[in-house]
Order: sequence, then C-alpha cells, then structure tokens
Amino acid sequence: MNEQSSGATTAHGGSAAGGPLDPIAEKVSACMQCGTCTGSCANAFAMDYTPRQLWRLVQLGEQDEIFRSTTFWMCSSCYYCTLRCPRGLPLTETIQALKRIAFARGTYRSKTSPVFYSTFVDNIRRYGRVREMDMMTRFFLRLKHPVAPLRFASLGVKLLLKGKISPQMPALFAKGKLDGLFRKVRELESES
Ligand code: SF4
Ligand code: SF4
Repeated sequence: MNEQSSGATTAHGGSAAGGPLDPIAEKVSACMQCGTCTGSCANAFAMDYTPRQLWRLVQLGEQDEIFRSTTFWMCSSCYYCTLRCPRGLPLTETIQALKRIAFARGTYRSKTSPVFYSTFVDNIRRYGRVREMDMMTRFFLRLKHPVAPLRFASLGVKLLLKGKISPQMPALFAKGKLDGLFRKVRELESES
C-alpha cells in the first residue's frame, strides 16, 4: 500500500507522519507557474512533462504521475532554471531529490536512465572523472540490450575521429580512485 492509498495523505501526497514528497513540495510551494524554468530548459523538448508542469504535479501531490514521468531523468543539472526562476526556488536541487527518491524506491518506467546514472557515478568513483568509452561499454553491458550500442555507434566513431573521446583500457580490478570519498559520504548520509 502506498501513502496515497493509505488514506492518511497530505496535500503533497506524503503520509501524515511526513512523506518523501513533503519537503520537495515545500520547496516549490511558491511556484507561480510562470514557465520561465521550462523556457530556460534545453532538455524540455525531451521531457514528457515540462519543468513547470512537474512543479504543479508536485504541488498537487500526484505521486504516481510524478514518478512515472521522464522529466527528472532528462534533467542534466545545468542549473539554468534555478538561476532564472523569479521566485528563486531551488529547482535543480529539488529535481535531484526526486531522482534520488525514484531511484531508492525503484519507481521508474524505463530502466535506461537509472542504469545510465549509476554507471556514470560508478565511473566517477573508479577514475575520478568519466572515461567515456569505458562508461558506455559498462552501460551497454548492464542494459543487456543488444541493439542499443548500434544506435550510438556512428556518434561514437565521430567523437573518436575528432579526438573527443579516448579509447582507454578499463581498469577492471583496480581500486576506485574515489572509493574513500564515496565511503565517507555514505557514512555521513547514514548518520543524518
Ligand atoms: S520559473 Fe519558478 S515560478 Fe516560474 S514556473 Fe518555474 S518554478 Fe515556477
Ligand atoms: S537544471 Fe535540469 S530542469 Fe533545470 S534547466 Fe537545467 S536541465 Fe532543465
């Protein structure tokens, strides 16, 4: 049973004891639906709900619709909406919080975006930066989708020929460069 079906829900779809959407809805409660965030977002064309619509859904506590949405997965954390919001709302931070909740709950429609994000973060942990070839190879392996690499093949070749990515060998058994940092963050998060 989810919080909405339990009957004890707040306006934001959280439980009376405080649901995961409550702090998020609090942060965007002053949204006046002006649409500046949507107009500023370079990725809005790829989202099913625009950022402005997403904030309205959050205000209304439409949990199912929010977590079915592709919007927050498409956000590249450029901070442009945050910079331009006339209400000064922390939009990027808030969209990241939605991503974390969806990831923790496993509530997402397509597994591609979560797999991409976790492969990206794992690559940062291993090397301290992204190694594109290595990351995409691991991404395709984890996706277990035989056709997916073909879709990116021509782009990969173009980037290689332009020297934008380098074909470095993966460090299969090496210790991650940022293992210590990631461990510390996990410790801090479990204390908070
Ligand atoms: S720019 Fe700010 S106030 Fe305007 S719709 Fe977006 S979140 Fe709401
Ligand atoms: S931070 Fe995300 S939602 Fe905001 S403008 Fe950038 S890509 Fe769009």
